[in-house]
Amino acid sequence: MSIVDFTKTPVTALYGSNCFSNAVMRERLPKNMYQEMLAVQGGEKELTLEVAEVVAAAMRDWALAKGASHYTHWFHPLTGLTAEKHDSFIAPTMDGRVLMEFSGKELIKGEPDASSFPSGGLRATFEARGYTAWDVTSPAFLKQDQTGTTLCIPTAFISYYGQALDKKVPLLKSIDALSKQAIRVLRALGNDTSKRVYTTVGPEQEYFLVDKALYDQRPDLILTGRTVFGSMPAKGQEMEDHYFGAIKERVAGFMRELNTELWKVGIAAKTQHNEVAPNQFEIAPVFTNTTVAVDANQLVMETIKNVARRHGMEGLLHEKPFAGINGSGKHNNWSIATDDGINLFDPGANPESNARFLLFAAAVVEAVDRYALLIRASAATSANDHRLGANEAPPAVVSIFFGGPLTEILDNIAEGKSSVKTEEGAVIKLGVTSLPNLPKDVSDRNRTSPFAFTGNKFEFRMVGSSQSIATPNTYLNVAVAQVLSEFADKLEKGAHKNETIQSIIKESYAKHRRVVFNGNGYAEEWVREAERRGLPNVRNAVDALSVLTRSETIALFEAHQVFSKDEMESRYHIYLEKYAKQINIEAGVTIDMARRYIFPAATTYAGTLAQDAAALAAVGATNIPQAKRVKRIAELAAELYDETAKLETVLTEAQEVEDPFTKAKAYFEKVRPAMDAVRTRGDGLEKLVAKNAWPFPGYEELLFKL
Ligand code: ADP
Ligand code: MG
Repeated sequence: MSIVDFTKTPVTALYGSNCFSNAVMRERLPKNMYQEMLAVQGGEKELTLEVAEVVAAAMRDWALAKGASHYTHWFHPLTGLTAEKHDSFIAPTMDGRVLMEFSGKELIKGEPDASSFPSGGLRATFEARGYTAWDVTSPAFLKQDQTGTTLCIPTAFISYYGQALDKKVPLLKSIDALSKQAIRVLRALGNDTSKRVYTTVGPEQEYFLVDKALYDQRPDLILTGRTVFGSMPAKGQEMEDHYFGAIKERVAGFMRELNTELWKVGIAAKTQHNEVAPNQFEIAPVFTNTTVAVDANQLVMETIKNVARRHGMEGLLHEKPFAGINGSGKHNNWSIATDDGINLFDPGANPESNARFLLFAAAVVEAVDRYALLIRASAATSANDHRLGANEAPPAVVSIFFGGPLTEILDNIAEGKSSVKTEEGAVIKLGVTSLPNLPKDVSDRNRTSPFAFTGNKFEFRMVGSSQSIATPNTYLNVAVAQVLSEFADKLEKGAHKNETIQSIIKESYAKHRRVVFNGNGYAEEWVREAERRGLPNVRNAVDALSVLTRSETIALFEAHQVFSKDEMESRYHIYLEKYAKQINIEAGVTIDMARRYIFPAATTYAGTLAQDAAALAAVGATNIPQAKRVKRIAELAAELYDETAKLETVLTEAQEVEDPFTKAKAYFEKVRPAMDAVRTRGDGLEKLVAKNAWPFPGYEELLFKL
């Protein structure tokens, strides 16, 4: 662990020191080359080899000066993780020396042996080649630790035939699609200055920390990131004493180093606090352009893990490491901004910006209602199944929160009323020539909505803590792009601008306002109310994913050139496979722990108790209820044994299923309940067996010791 003294190295000097930012480029590139790069980043120009050569040389010199020996094209394969293959800069000379080289070609394009990444059948093994291409919208950075320094180049990953093999390519395409349609709408509204829009994202990352020595004794944590056994301790999270509580010194030390590492690579880590569950925490950076945010979030997750280990802890990013205790999510704060600095979800102060705001807000409402299943699917993983639709928030019903005043305004427009009275008694006119002045603080807080408007952005809360945010943002962008394209069609045709705006909002909102819900999203009544409103409530990831291959979904993605049918279908298969594989591992660990840890511990302990009982009886102490306890342990151990055998049977059956959907379904419907049955017995035994005879640390240590 390395504690930086901020009086000697101020944060301002440290910040971005390992990031090949635009500031560094401006310093190191000839002026015209820097201008070229800005144009390439803005999507106005293609990157030429000539420019790439100059940038590559500057990047190499910068990286070498900072001690780098290797570079890597850093990318996001469909595993949901990041991948890197390191190449050193060395180029041997004829006379037995080496030069340190890095060409424009090497910067632009890499060719990793891609055959082992999931492609969902997009690549035949004889054509396994995949290419990586530099994503100029996200800056290169240095990964630096005790072992060395590596230059990382954020990259997109495509097949030999140009199909996307990663999460970055579709994201970039979705931003283009959204930009195209949003600009059409803006033009129709009379804006002729903005050239493109991009989305901004600030992801709040939740995670747990556990002591490393304890973690190392739990095969389930090591292999699956979650506990598949563990009885509830006497204390859970009911005291609500952890959320925003004082941060323990050990954790504070970890956070300090985490921030330092993130700041070095130019990630603006800003907020940190204790979360609801014991030993659960959150970190949130300042929002950025989405491609940068996606890369940064992957680095945040990786850095949490690395830094935690340096502090003798393990960072858990799993959505549900502990049953019965709050899980972890990732709040995807999302907005749309123009290149000239307008936040399209900022209500603004004048009628013109209000009109724009209401139109874009209505587009989001319509998109979330029409594409609710797609949005649900963007957070569909086996780990997130423990949150969405289980006994935990947020619910699997997709709804939008707007808060009272805004909802009232939209409702009134939908109902064709000409004015509204605000709570303060002011009358707002909803005329055709000017839209209302919105009350200032229109968004009160609602923490239970899966999609909440929070003042000038939407907070999508379904995303799982370990997920890449690339896919949720891709789907969201495309859904909104589609609605905006339909709005633009009408606006471009409509003769009277204000009337057209009014009628678009009126029509759209009247039809889609059923998705707006301002109440408590965690309440049972909401689930019933949502059902009455006809909102889908898909409680498991396997069913949620099936929307991906519906013809209307494929048509949507094809219309905006984000996914082809092949690409979407291959992804669908990869997600299903991943779902099955994850539960397969969890079931395997469950069997292993039941048989090789819990059963022996319980029976040995029961044997000891029985011996003790005999010895005690020999001296006349026959009133101690040892026998009762032995009997209960023996019963549970027998049940554990039987349930483990049953689990093994259903697991083998699931493993033999060929069709990916049926297979994933078998894991969900058969294997998971069988695992739970084993767990119940194991957890029952944990409560009966002496602490010192139990083979691994329990929840009371994992959750409260740090
Ligand atoms: P909360 O009160 O929801 O916990 P936080 O301060 O933890 O809020 O996180 C809010 C996140 O939203 C931050 O990452 C912040 O940068 C981000 N954010 C703020 N404005 C925008 C915006 N216009 N677009 C995207 N994200 C934003
Ligand atoms: Mg927060």
